Amino acid sequence: MPAVTADNILTLPRVAAPDPAAARTRPVVSVTTAPKGFEGEGFPVRRAFAGVDLRALDPFIHMDQMGEVEYAPGEPKGTPWHPHRGFETVTYMIDGEFAHSDSNGGGGLITNGDTQWMTAGAGILHIETPPEHLVMSGGLFHGIQLWVNLPRTLKFAPPRYQDIRGTSVALLSSPDGGALIRVIAGELGGHAGPGVTHTPITLVHATVSPGAALTLPWRADFNALAYVLAGKGTVGGKGRPVESGQLAVYGDGDTVTVAADPRQTLEVLLLGGQPIREPVAAYGPFVMNTKAELIQAFEDFQAGRLGTIPAAHADVQGEM
Ligand code: MN
Repeated sequence: MPAVTADNILTLPRVAAPDPAAARTRPVVSVTTAPKGFEGEGFPVRRAFAGVDLRALDPFIHMDQMGEVEYAPGEPKGTPWHPHRGFETVTYMIDGEFAHSDSNGGGGLITNGDTQWMTAGAGILHIETPPEHLVMSGGLFHGIQLWVNLPRTLKFAPPRYQDIRGTSVALLSSPDGGALIRVIAGELGGHAGPGVTHTPITLVHATVSPGAALTLPWRADFNALAYVLAGKGTVGGKGRPVESGQLAVYGDGDTVTVAADPRQTLEVLLLGGQPIREPVAAYGPFVMNTKAELIQAFEDFQAGRLGTIPAAHADVQGEM
């Protein structure tokens, strides 16, 4: 159950229904199932983009659904300190809390519905952990981490960090009131969400009521993906079945369609962005254009040129 919701969806601004005569419905090109794995110190994830061609994902590189998991006391886990270069991470906490610190002085706590944008750019070190009180108490943990690529000209941009509170997310209703739409980033049908991104993207989290269908305008120059966080339903005009943990890739057109099963709510992320169309050399925490740049990134990391762990944290690391 997402933390950010609306008391009365009918009072929200409505996304205009696309003109069915003029708008081309995007067909569904593929549906894939995200394999389960573990990240960092061992928190459960689903690799949303596994098995999908990078050209279909462009400008996105990688996405993990973190959880959904109900931790027992003492069980919550995070990541150790690690580097990044060449892209941006978007972390959207649907439920629970995650704390962040980085070598650039950025950091903070994101909770229930908050989003954090981190531009790694030229290089950064960071750590993502559940806060101490949550480690003690256990509790619900559910979020998304999305990697957005940077074009060659911005791979060495200065690192940047933005916390976006759940309360600043644009809340909208579908034309018939059957779906709650949260615009996390970018814009949808003229309604802007928070978050400043180098690469233009739209990231939407929709809660579609049982039996409801949702058709949204979608920029023709963006790619379009749907990832099901929970529930069952269909994607596309022909109603291809999808369920929790599945990713749909749409083809070209002006609108995207999803629908919920008649008996259950569909929680779905809709995302797209302007393709960068450059060669991608990605390995581990680095996303560059060439293999030589990847080798350089590893060398720069080992030489301490991507930043150093802040002193307050270095003490803690030293005890481990
Ligand atoms: Mn990271």
